[in-house]
Formats: sequence, C-alpha cells, structure tokens
Amino acid sequence: MAAARFRAACPDCRGRFELAAAALRLAIGATRRTTFYTFTCPDCGASVRKPAGERIIELLTGGGVRTLRLHTALQRPGPPARHPASP
Ligand SMILES: [Zn+2]
Repeated sequence: MAAARFRAACPDCRGRFELAAAALRLAIGATRRTTFYTFTCPDCGASVRKPAGERIIELLTGGGVRTLRLHTALQRPGPPARHPASP
C-alpha cells in the first residue's frame, strides 16, 4: 500500500514539499490553541508548527501520523492529594 504523504509549506523559506507520515507529529491539546502539528522543513531545517483543525487531525491520524494527546497527560491519575503524614 502507498504510504500517505502530506503537502506542507514552510513559512521560513517558503518551500513547498510533501512529507511522509513519519516526518510529521500531531499534538492534540484540550483547546484549539494547543492542537497543532509539527514538522522539520526538509529545505531549511526550520521547526514548523501549525494549528490543526478537525479536518487536518482526521487526515493526519488517518494517514498514520504519530499523535500526542496532550490533554490526557493532565487527566492521568496522580498520587492522591497529600495529607500531612502521621508520624
Ligand atoms: Zn524551510
């Protein structure tokens, strides 16, 4: 099967290229502001971060891009609230 490729553009050098799913990372946060995808520009090496809407999230996850769900980190069960330890 053909590997999914995604069209992307670099705001730094204005290069346009296609990236394999492995070259992209998707981060899904609790809000739109913390939901974005990142890649490294193959032309100039810049780290590019772009907001990801629902459509893009669907595309990227469907194409096998590694996804980091940021909001689950906040919901992870932590240690119980600390009470002063009894001696
Ligand atoms: Zn670039």
